[in-house]
Amino acid sequence: MNEDLQRTLVLVKPDGVQRGLIGEVIGRFEKVGLKIVAMRMVWVDGEFSKKHYAEHVEKAFYPGLEAMITMGPVVSMVLEGVDSIELVRKMVGSTEPKSAPPGTIRGDFAHVSYGYANKKGIGVKNVIHASANETDAKKEIELWFDKSEIHSYTTVHDVHILN
Ligand code: UDP
Ligand code: MG
Repeated sequence: MNEDLQRTLVLVKPDGVQRGLIGEVIGRFEKVGLKIVAMRMVWVDGEFSKKHYAEHVEKAFYPGLEAMITMGPVVSMVLEGVDSIELVRKMVGSTEPKSAPPGTIRGDFAHVSYGYANKKGIGVKNVIHASANETDAKKEIELWFDKSEIHSYTTVHDVHILN
């Protein structure tokens, strides 16, 4: 990989998969020129959820989050590009769909608030996960993918960002 590029982990969460939003979400990332370098559909269990969401396991909302992330398969992928971690988080929008601006994935495809979800004891269904920073991206990519599943290939965008 070009040393000046970053890789980040993205999941289309079960709510996004069940709503038929896989293509819509992936299409947005393709259109900005990010490169998909790994991809898989996987139905995770509670044990794997606790690894992925280790920072949240002790929090009050965790049981609802685990129920949500294990309710069906997710589509996991690694996206590569210039400052891709920050760029993807910008495109994803803030965690609470109610606060996520229109134009972001969460703002365009979800609407629920923390208040509502917490009162109901359910996870906030916000369609997508994306690594928050470089440390998380490295950890998450290692958790979700074997090195051999991450591919190096050339896209037309490479011509535009390398020259
Ligand atoms: N979450 C939830 N209730 C909360 C906070 C978070 O169900 O009160 C869920 C939500 O799906 C969120 C995930 O837990 O995307 C991880 O939370 P985090 O704060 O890391 O948000 P993210 O990094 O996904 O924006
Ligand atoms: Mg997070």
